[in-house]
Amino acid sequence: MDKIDIKSLSLDEISDYLKEKGEPKFRAKQIFAWLHNFKVTSFSQMTNISKKLIQMLDNDCYITTFEVERKLVSQLDGTTKYLYKLQDNNFIESVVMDYKHGKSVCISTQVGCKMGCKFCASTIAGFVRNLTASEMLEQVYFASRDSGVRISNIVLMGIGEPLDNYDNVMRFLHLVSHEEGNNLSLRHVSLSTCGIVPKIQMLAKEKLGVTLSVSLHAPNDTIRSQTMPINDAYNVDTLLKACKEYAQQTHRRISYEYALIDGVNDSMQCAKELGSRLKGSLCHVNLIPVNQVKETGFKTAKKQNIQRFIQILEGYGITTTVRRTLGADINAACGQLRRENTQRGES
Ligand code: SAH
Repeated sequence: MDKIDIKSLSLDEISDYLKEKGEPKFRAKQIFAWLHNFKVTSFSQMTNISKKLIQMLDNDCYITTFEVERKLVSQLDGTTKYLYKLQDNNFIESVVMDYKHGKSVCISTQVGCKMGCKFCASTIAGFVRNLTASEMLEQVYFASRDSGVRISNIVLMGIGEPLDNYDNVMRFLHLVSHEEGNNLSLRHVSLSTCGIVPKIQMLAKEKLGVTLSVSLHAPNDTIRSQTMPINDAYNVDTLLKACKEYAQQTHRRISYEYALIDGVNDSMQCAKELGSRLKGSLCHVNLIPVNQVKETGFKTAKKQNIQRFIQILEGYGITTTVRRTLGADINAACGQLRRENTQRGES
């Protein structure tokens, strides 16, 4: 029989398991706190639990942990990138960044990605599997143990499409915010999606308070369909309508991500079209100078085009920021570390 992934279980599910084994219910809270508050990596660290129960847990369950395959620390700002080896030998990445308001971790939600965005390194080698809730949690907990500091913000913006792994992501969000465990307010979590509309509608109904980031990257269907296949399923109009409804239902501002690619989506015309489509809605635009990925051939927009883009959007009354470049000296676009590593393995 497969062992139980105990860090993916809710408090109630741990209670049910203990009940079945004839153990008292209050132990569930203790075990849950060891896993999610103290973030232990082995049952033997649970010092207020009897030897007999630890033995039972060891026999029946496992605690998800990773090996660090590579760890890169920026000399400029301390940004840390981890390439983790999972228990089944797959690889994923996380990035830990220091901001004024604390440490933020950008986590992966899948091994690889199905979405096929043309500029993105994570999708080049295709999709392998979904991450479990515990594998998402461990990216947060590992970063916290390794830095000795509590993680105060989480962004689901690493490898994978979070809304394509909906159930595990919901489980992760419930666990990471549970008051008997890690107790992080979901207002400090951002979820980034390429725009799977029915799942955005489901997420709005969950009323979790997470910030929704939407990878828009184009003002119209002609340009968006060239770079993002998801646009053929849910076009710009459908997506923007769902986003506006999300903002209305949750009272949370949508963050539109727009990676500026030289000669593709960085013209004045694009800025005007985007401005007129977003005008008056509860949103903010985050411009990203596209990270150049060798295989894609896309180039970063010129500085003056970025400036011009900002001015035009601001003219429409839209709050616009340019993503700060953190860890420039260890630069690796989304999925590039894993890609490099996989290629080394292949050759
Ligand atoms: N699948 C989700 C989250 C992972 S990608 C999504 O699409 O939003 C995280 C963000 O990085 C997305 O906004 C994505 O479009 C962007 N991204 C991917 N490759 C990039 C690149 N080469 N340069 C800049 N941004 C990129």
